[in-house]
Amino acid sequence: MKNNNHSRRKFLQELGVAGALSLCGLPILSGCSRQPKTHARVVIVGAGFGGATCAKYLRKLDRGIEVILIDANTEYVTCPFSNTVLAGLHGINDLTFRYDDLVDSYGITFLNETVTNIDPDKNSVILTDGSNLSYDRLVIAPGISLVWNTPEGYDATASEIMPHAWKAGPQTLLLRKQLENMRDGGVVAIAPPAKPFRCPPGPYERASLIANYLKKNKPKSKILILDSNEKFSKQGLFMQAWKERYPGMIEWVPVTEGGAVQRVDPTNMTLYTDLDEHKVDVANVIPAQTAGKVTIENGLADQSGWCPVNLQTFESTLIKNIHVLGDSALAGAMPKSASAANSQAKVCALAITALLNGNEPGGPSFHNTCYSLIGPDYGISVSAIYGLKDNMIQKIEGSGGVSPMDASAAFRADEAKYAQGWFDSITQDTFG
Ligand SMILES: Cc1cc2nc3c(=O)[nH]c(=O)nc-3n(C[C@H](O)[C@H](O)[C@H](O)COP(=O)(O)OP(=O)(O)OC[C@H]3O[C@@H](n4cnc5c(N)ncnc54)[C@H](O)[C@@H]3O)c2cc1C
Repeated sequence: MKNNNHSRRKFLQELGVAGALSLCGLPILSGCSRQPKTHARVVIVGAGFGGATCAKYLRKLDRGIEVILIDANTEYVTCPFSNTVLAGLHGINDLTFRYDDLVDSYGITFLNETVTNIDPDKNSVILTDGSNLSYDRLVIAPGISLVWNTPEGYDATASEIMPHAWKAGPQTLLLRKQLENMRDGGVVAIAPPAKPFRCPPGPYERASLIANYLKKNKPKSKILILDSNEKFSKQGLFMQAWKERYPGMIEWVPVTEGGAVQRVDPTNMTLYTDLDEHKVDVANVIPAQTAGKVTIENGLADQSGWCPVNLQTFESTLIKNIHVLGDSALAGAMPKSASAANSQAKVCALAITALLNGNEPGGPSFHNTCYSLIGPDYGISVSAIYGLKDNMIQKIEGSGGVSPMDASAAFRADEAKYAQGWFDSITQDTFG
C-alpha cells in the first residue's frame, strides 16, 4: 500500500479485510518475528517518535494485534536535526520520513486523518466525517500544542513573521530563509519559554548552529537569547563551546536579569521584556507549550496542561483503555525528547501486549540520550537510564552521564559523529 491517502470506502474495505485476516491468523509479515497470540485492535493517534514506534513494536511483539496508525500528515519531519537545517548543514528532505515501511513490512494500517473527538464510553475515536473507529486500546501520542499569546501578541499570524520553528517543516524553512536574507551585522533573538517545553537543550543548540552559519556568512551579526529560565541543560558545556567557537557572538540573558519576553510586536520586530525593548532583525519566539490539543479537548490532561499516566503502562489515570505517551505525558524525570518518546513507546507496547493477553505488565526501564551540535564537528551529549521508584520515573543513580568539560577537539568531533549515528538509528528504529 504505497499510497497512504485512502478514501473512506477503500479504508473501511481494507479494515474489513485486515480484520478477517487477523482473525484467521493468516498474514505472514516480514519484520514480525512472533506468532499471533491475541486478536484485538489498537488505534494510535499521532505517528511521530512515540506513536510510530509504539505501532511497530506492537506488531513485532504480537502480530495478532491489528494496529491502525493515524496522523494528520502523510510525512513526518523530525525536529531532531532541524537546527542543522537552519545552519545550512542539512536539507529538510534529510529529515523527512514516510510510513511506507511500517505499512509494507509490519502490516500496520496508516490513516491520514486528524482526530478531534474520542468516545471512551464506546471505545471509539470519531473521524472527521463523523464515522467511528473502535478500539480495544487507544494510544495517543500527539506531541505538543503551542499556547498562543504567551508571550502576549504571539499568535499564529505573528509566527509567520517571527517563526517558532518548534514543529519542524515550513516553520524551519521560514526561519532559515530569514537568516539567509538578514544583513551582516543583524541581531537574531531566540526567546525560549519557561520550562517545561519539548527538547530542553534545543534553543541553545539552535543558538550554536545559527552562530555557525553567521560566523561563516555574516560575521558582524549577534545572537541574543532572551530566556524565561535561569539555567539550562548542559549549560557549562554550551557556554564553554560558545567562548571557544563563537566568542562575543552569543549573549544569554536569563530570567533573573530580565530575559523573559512578555510581549511581542511583529510589525516593528520588537520584543519587550520587563526591563527593555529589543528591536531585532530575526526573531525566533518559542511560545509556551501544553500536551497535544486532542488530549486537552478530550479530558486527558490535568490542570498542569499535561497528561497524568500510570508510569508502568502509560495508561491515562483519567480515562481507562487510553494510553498517552511522548511529549504529552507527565513522565517524571524524563525530558520531552524523541529519545524518551521512543523508549516510552516500547514500554507502552509491551504493557499493552501483556494486558491484551491477560498478563501483568512487567517493571519498566527507560533511557534517554540527547546530543547537541555546536557545529558540524563539535558535539556534546547527556544520557541516562530511568526506572520506576516510589511510583515515579527516576534516573538510576550512576547511569549515563554528561560529556566532560575541557575535552579535546577530537573528542568533540567523535561526539558529532555519534550524534549523526543516533539520528540514523532512531529514525530507522521508528520509521524503518
Ligand atoms: C528544534 C528541536 C530539536 C530537537 N532535537 C531533539 C534531539 O536532538 N533529540 C531528541 O531526542 N529530541 C529532540 N527534540 C524533541 C522531539 O522532537 C520531541 O520530543 C518528539 O518529537 C516527541 O515525540 P512525540 O511522538 O511525543 O510527538 P511528535 O513527534 O511531535 O509527533 C506527534 C504526531 O502527532 C500528530 N498529531 C497530533 N495531533 C493529532 C491529531 N489530533 N490527529 C492526528 N494526528 C495528530 C502530528 O502530526 C505528529 O506527527 C527536538 C525538538 C525540537 C523542537
